[in-house]
Amino acid sequence: AKQHRDGKPRLFHQAQEDELEERLTLERELQYAIEHDELCLYLQPQVDAERQVIGAEALIRWQHPTRGMVSPGRFIPVAEKTGLILPLGHWVLKEGCRLLGEWRHMPGFQDLKLSLNISVRQFQQPDFAEQVLALIQRYDAPPARLTLELTESLLLSDTDSTIKKMEQLQRVGISFALDDFGTGYSSLSYLKVLPLDTLKIDIAFVRDLTLHMQATPIAATIITLAESLGLRVVAEGVETDEQRVVLARLGCHIYQGYLFGRPSTVKAFSNAIVEYDAV
Ligand code: C2E
Ligand code: CA
Ligand code: CA
Ligand code: CA
Repeated sequence: AKQHRDGKPRLFHQAQEDELEERLTLERELQYAIEHDELCLYLQPQVDAERQVIGAEALIRWQHPTRGMVSPGRFIPVAEKTGLILPLGHWVLKEGCRLLGEWRHMPGFQDLKLSLNISVRQFQQPDFAEQVLALIQRYDAPPARLTLELTESLLLSDTDSTIKKMEQLQRVGISFALDDFGTGYSSLSYLKVLPLDTLKIDIAFVRDLTLHMQATPIAATIITLAESLGLRVVAEGVETDEQRVVLARLGCHIYQGYLFGRPSTVKAFSNAIVEYDAV
């Protein structure tokens, strides 16, 4: 610590101090939230070119007693820094498998796929694959309906053990999507060796797609790349019909975004599926 002129150690500037305090409070409250059921999963539909719902991505929500809904963009980074991402991530896996186990017995839901976000630190646990397999068994979840979304930063860690874990889970039918594709570290050579099923085009590359564009460089490149590797493409953050049309023209397979549905409670999502089916 720097010595201030009055002799008192000056550890932090006020702003940093406030931020640290806020983070510690959030950490304490998040720990409590995990143990006391303040978290829940919202579902956002994923649709095919015919607008048929083929599945959903689970997005975590924290219903804080006084702060209201805290967004994952706020607390996931804190969870990652503190290690709370491990119990939190396990909770997500557990809830996801439980839901898939329920859907197995519900007409209209049996074929739906569920995507779960897995953070790097969670995936890196030596027993990650065993955790997933145990939960699948416990809730009788069909592994072929489960997709795990990983991010490119995973490729910075030990690739051999990453591939081994992915293959272990792929063998039972679980699939893998690479999330936020194009925003992070990506080595194209790794794309070939990872047992991936899907690339997700990041919202940043969907946002500025328009019909009048001469070239649609990044989204087009990702779709072409996916095709050449035999991977499916999910476009995220599709908000306008114009974006959908451009993506369809480029050969995109699956769409996700406010245009088709916002993330909603499991109940609201289920009601929408049932109503849709009844039409
Ligand atoms: P993500 O995995 O890239 O999730 C997509 C984000 O885009 C979600 O934000 C979703 O609500 C939002 N989104 C979907 N469609 C649209 C759209 O049309 N327009 C716009 N503007 N946004 C759209 P959300 O739910 O706030 O989640 C933010 C991030 O938090 C996620 O980004 C993911 O990285 C992380 N996250 C969420 N749930 C989990 C979880 O269960 N585990 C982990 N490890 N991370 C999670
Ligand atoms: Ca995701
Ligand atoms: Ca994403
Ligand atoms: Ca994203």
